[in-house]
Amino acid sequence: MLENEGMKHLRVAAYARVSTDRDDQANSFESQVKYFKDWITRQDGWNLINVYADEGITGTSTQKREQFNQMIQDALSGKIDVILTKEVSRFARNTLDSISYTRRLKEYGVMVVFLLDGIDTSQSDAELRLTIMAALAQEESRKTSERVKWGQKRRMEQGVVFGRDMLGYNVRNGRLELEPEGAEIVRQIFHKYTIEGKGSYVIARELKEAGIKPMNPDGRIHYENDWSTTIILRILRNEKYAGDLCQKKTWTKNFLDHKKRYNRGNEDTVSIKNHHPEIAIISRDLWDATQVELKRRALTKEQKSKHSNRYWCSGKIWCGVCGERFVSKRKPLKDGTIHVSWRCFNHTKAAAFRSAECDNNHYANEKTLLSIMGYIMKFLISNNEQIKQELLAEIDALEIAHTLDRTETTKSQITQIESRKSKLMDSFLDGLISEEEFTCKKSELDTKLNALKNHLDCVKSEMQAKQQEIEKINRISEKISEILDFDFKEDSCVLNSITSKIVVYQDKRVEVHVVGIPRSFIVTYETSGRSETYKTMITGFDINRQ
Ligand SMILES: [Zn+2]
Repeated sequence: MLENEGMKHLRVAAYARVSTDRDDQANSFESQVKYFKDWITRQDGWNLINVYADEGITGTSTQKREQFNQMIQDALSGKIDVILTKEVSRFARNTLDSISYTRRLKEYGVMVVFLLDGIDTSQSDAELRLTIMAALAQEESRKTSERVKWGQKRRMEQGVVFGRDMLGYNVRNGRLELEPEGAEIVRQIFHKYTIEGKGSYVIARELKEAGIKPMNPDGRIHYENDWSTTIILRILRNEKYAGDLCQKKTWTKNFLDHKKRYNRGNEDTVSIKNHHPEIAIISRDLWDATQVELKRRALTKEQKSKHSNRYWCSGKIWCGVCGERFVSKRKPLKDGTIHVSWRCFNHTKAAAFRSAECDNNHYANEKTLLSIMGYIMKFLISNNEQIKQELLAEIDALEIAHTLDRTETTKSQITQIESRKSKLMDSFLDGLISEEEFTCKKSELDTKLNALKNHLDCVKSEMQAKQQEIEKINRISEKISEILDFDFKEDSCVLNSITSKIVVYQDKRVEVHVVGIPRSFIVTYETSGRSETYKTMITGFDINRQ
């Protein structure tokens, strides 16, 4: 089909789309190179100068065509005379593309030969044949695509699993198989996120630090090369871990580019609840709680200030036995909410290492703390006036006026000494006293002056501290009025801003420090009931004047 006269020593490039699948030897790079070489040796004066190859053998896939683009560039810059390729369907993305590429190449004197289709663009009927070929290929692709889609959906409805292996499961013949090693990591991730309250970034870092790779035992990479927040979040949202199956989360908009897009209601998803409960990796409760957590943490900043990620008492609870911080422990409940309690950090260590660093085994749970805070707030509100009076009396006791007197006295003493110093200087300059006498007297005065200045500084900072105290006390009465306007149980911001410290003792006794009030409140309590019937009764209340 090719006329060889006048075509001596043509520089030929071949373009191949190769399969990365080891079982697909026919489409491997080596076999295709051999194919092109065999073909070229039968042509006179043809020299194979390069084989360009991109991955992926479906012609419509355009994702990785770096080599194709390179080849076009080389051809247009005069390095290639002939391009060999197997089929129209493997050359360009669609009819228009094929034609526009071959036309452009023809303008530059480059001809394209489609071996299996018997088309070579140096022939006059090439463009017509190409159009027909490409159109046929495109139509076939569309039909196949639709057939595949329809069949896939039917099979999805029957519970057949499509897609690749994932952490914790392998996909074998449309069924999920548990992969225990990965399943354990999945469990850890859900636990860290929902029970321990860690963020996706921290979890990714911890897994990296633990030397765990996001891979299968056979070394295949699941997602990217290392843990990232994206991977963690993807795992937390994967319903398969709870035993459900939801497919068609991505859809193909255009069969020509095979590009997957997230299905946002463009096509029906196929969901099957309890598809594989026998190999679910996490419990239904943990799954539900995790989805609630994900939503909660995804709130905007403004929303977050209301539903803070941290609890109103986070970082404020301390152990009354050893003085260590209390740390939170979270447990998902059946209704999707999370039960939070706090425990002495040294005590949790004790439990883990079987060595009693602190024997305070008391939990502080949020319900009890709320009852206690409620009690204290009611007390503050109903005794607002009395507390104010008490605090004002304390302001008087601070004897600010007396301190002011002390500073004035010190200031005048300093002035006196400074004038004596200048007189001393005059006497020396007038020759009334010797240099020795002058130096001696001067250093004596300097010492006194320094002492006075130091004293003044001390008094000043003492004054400042007292003034701050006064301002604080003044603010308190405002705060107490403020509290009246809130339903504090609903508003963790208010609780957070008024609570400065909570100390938990072993004998159901809690000491609460309220911001700005130089008092602490000691509350003893009893509890009864469980979950919904859980109640806290205040059995004792005392004020500690610090
Ligand atoms: Zn402790």
